[in-house]
Parts: sequence; structure tokens; C-alpha cells
Amino acid sequence: MVPSSPLVPNNDPTLLFTNAGMVPFKDVFTGAETRPYQRAVSSQKCLRAGGKHNDLDNVGYTARHHTFFEMLGNFSFGDYFKEQAIQFGWGLVTEGFGLDKDRLTVTVYHDDQEAFDLWKSIAGLPDDRIIKIATSDNFWSMGDTGPCGPCSEIFYDHGADIPGGPPGSPDEDGDRFIEIWNLVFMQYEQQADGSRLNLPRPSIDTGMGLERVAAVLQGVHDNYDIDLFRALIDASVSETGVRAVGQQRASHRVIADHLRAMSFLIADGVLPSNEGRGYVLRRIMRRAMRHAHMLGSSDPLMYRLVPALVDQMAGAFPELSRAQPLITETLKLEEDRFRTMLERGLRLLDEEKSKLSPSQALPGEVAFRLYDTYGFPLDLTQDALRSEGRNVDIAGFDKAMAQQRAQARAAWSGSGQQATDKIWYDIKERYGATEFLGYQENSAEASVL
Ligand code: ATP
Ligand code: MG
Ligand code: MG
Ligand code: MG
Repeated sequence: MVPSSPLVPNNDPTLLFTNAGMVPFKDVFTGAETRPYQRAVSSQKCLRAGGKHNDLDNVGYTARHHTFFEMLGNFSFGDYFKEQAIQFGWGLVTEGFGLDKDRLTVTVYHDDQEAFDLWKSIAGLPDDRIIKIATSDNFWSMGDTGPCGPCSEIFYDHGADIPGGPPGSPDEDGDRFIEIWNLVFMQYEQQADGSRLNLPRPSIDTGMGLERVAAVLQGVHDNYDIDLFRALIDASVSETGVRAVGQQRASHRVIADHLRAMSFLIADGVLPSNEGRGYVLRRIMRRAMRHAHMLGSSDPLMYRLVPALVDQMAGAFPELSRAQPLITETLKLEEDRFRTMLERGLRLLDEEKSKLSPSQALPGEVAFRLYDTYGFPLDLTQDALRSEGRNVDIAGFDKAMAQQRAQARAAWSGSGQQATDKIWYDIKERYGATEFLGYQENSAEASVL
């Protein structure tokens, strides 16, 4: 049993966040790293809010997506392979968890006849509940080269009264059949020339969403109705005094989800900033703050919910208690700062919307002004327009951004000293004059900082 790694991967600078249970084991799968064991299980903190996996826009709207979630997994590094992985998986869901076999459907990659036959003999499922899928949903790869292979997924049918079709059908994105577990059979090595070699020691990587399985085991359909989320949503309801119904329901869900994401990110050392990981954090925070504002919360809300989160999760994740003061301060400061901008920005947005016809996209230039002057990340503006089905003209936004960058460059090189002087005057105006303490005196402190 391997403890969860942090959300910031320490083995892959190209990856923003740990987004799957296998991330900490990447180098073990490629053979670059060896460990004193060939099998492992873990419950890994994951974040899918940027980069290749981005579920930010799903949060609040589907029954099954979070930005932060826990992925349970079992792994074999050249030890057991396909047959035993399917036995383990099927055994756990049917005997371990006691799920009704009639509610389970599995998928295989379309050319993986071996997996199809194994499911048939091990699970005894009829042919029509072993669905062959030809898309990349059922073929996993680490990158353009390296280990890869077909996968099988286990779906739970939450019942005919919920909209959505079985995997592979046109309405598979509904929430009736919910994917609970993905079993990856790493058996090839993708070469740069496009060919695939058989891996000498095939491996297993699996991922099961804890919250999705909890929903099934607690007899609820929706992840946001499990005990943990109910407690967070209850806290949000009692702090705002607004019930979780209608449009407000989505806001409470976003707030509960984003509370987990922002708190765990801060506990793992990320702070809000204007680039990279810190900017993803800031976007998550500002988005949650807009929903708090929509619920009519006139004071900062998010920091007041931290105790509820600590209650629920610090038992399993002591880093939350350790970081609680930092999380609370950071949330409060960020929300205090953003509040005035948020109100002004939303007013501008309303004014601009009133000039548009109902289906017309918001001009990119306006979205850019919201970003540049009021600190609205683009996705916040998009989220704000979503309920009325209005889009943002992204090309226009990009153009305005490019234009501003070009202007800033021109101003810098063209007018030289003058432009820099203006910056100093602006700073002086905003913060007042400061006292020069000399180079010597501050150098020790500066090097520490
Ligand atoms: P979906 O198709 O529902 O978006 P996925 O195919 O993207 O899921 P995988 O990448 O296969 O998910 O991840 C393995 C497992 O992790 C999934 O089977 C699911 O149980 C869980 N999972 C994935 N994304 C999320 C999420 N955003 N929130 C909660 N659980 C998730
Ligand atoms: Mg997904
Ligand atoms: Mg899927
Ligand atoms: Mg999947």
C-alpha cells in the first residue's frame, strides 16, 4: 500500500498536476526506476483542472465529475497481467462490494479479443454487456512514445429513470451508466516511427474513482449526494443561508468541489499566482468566489468552509490540518481582494450583455477587458454566460491579448526610459514612497527569500 503522492508531481515537470493514480509510478513502468515491490495499491489525490484532462467545465453539471478527487488503483510492474487483473477487478466489485452483476457493463478495446474472452469466462457476462470500443477511450498511452495498451472499463447502471445510454452509444455522456473503474493493460511500447513492440514484462495500471464508488455503495446516483459532499454542501448552505435548489444547487456543488481543490493545492504548496499551477489555483478560487457571490454572500465565504473540510478529510490527509492556517489566510486574502473587482466586472458584463441579441457571443474584446482590468479569467466569464447559453468570441479574445502584448513590447523598446518611469510613478502613487535601506543590509535577507 503506497501513500498518495502530492498533487504537484515530482517526477514530471511537463505535467501540471497529478491527474491519475499511475503518475507517481511512471518511471517504474518505463523501467527508469525500480522499487522493492512489483505490486502496489494506492489512493491517489488527483486534480483534473488544466492540461490534457480538464473537468472544470463539468463540475456542478454532471453527477460524476470533480476537479479534485481520489483515484484508487492497483498496479502490477511486470507481475500479474490481464487475466488476474480482470479477476481482481470483477472479484472486488461483485464479491467485495457486493454489487449486482446485472447492473454492470464492461468495455474492451475493439481488437482486444483476449480481454473480451476473459470477461466472458471470468464474469460470465453476456456478449451484449461486453462492449467493443474503437476510440482512444479504450486505448491508453503515456505519451507519443513509451508504454501503452488497450483498456477495459467497468460501468454501473444507475437505472432507467436517469437519462443516458450505455458506453459506445450516441448518448453515452449521460449519467445513467457511470464509469467506475478503468483497467489498463500495458502491453506495448510505442516507437517514434509509429510501430509498436511487445513489452517484455507487461504491466497493469487501474483507476477507480472513490467518490463514484462511494455513490454506488451509499445507494445514491450522484457523487454530490455522498456523505462527504453532503457535509460540505450543508456547510455552504448554512453559511450562506441559501438552499441548494435550482440554479443555486449548481453553485453549492461548484463551491464544495472547488473548496477541496483549492485547499489541497495550497496544502501541497501551490499558491495563487498569475502563471502555471498558481494560475490554475487562482482560476478555481475566483470561479468559486463568483458562485459565492451569486448566492448573495456579501462577505468572503470560502475560508469559512475550511473547518467543514478539515472535519471530513483531515483524518485521511493530515496535511490539511497542518496547512489549515495557511489555507484559511490565503482564501480570505484572495476573496477580500477579488470582491470589488468581481462586482465591478459583473456590472460591466451585464452592461455589455444588454447590448447583445440573445444568442450573440460576447465580443472577445469585452472578455479581454474583463480579464485585463478586472482579473476575470476567461473561463470565469464563460462560466458566467453558460446558464444563458451564450459563448465568448475566443478568437477575438486571443487577438486582443496578442495586440496588448505587442503594444507592451513596443512601448517598452520604443519609448525606453519614459515607459519605465511611468511604472515607478504608478507604484509610488499606489503604495507611497519607501525608504532605501542600502544593498548590504538587505542582501542576506534577499538571498533567503
Ligand atoms: P469519464 O469518462 O467519466 O470522464 P475518464 O474516462 O475520464 O472518466 P479515467 O481517466 O479512465 O476517467 O480515470 C479512471 C477513473 O477515475 C474513472 O473510471 C473514474 O472512476 C475516475 N474519475 C475520472 N475523472 C474523474 C473526475 N473528474 N471526478 C471523479 N472521478 C473521476
Ligand atoms: Mg473524463
Ligand atoms: Mg471515460
Ligand atoms: Mg476512463
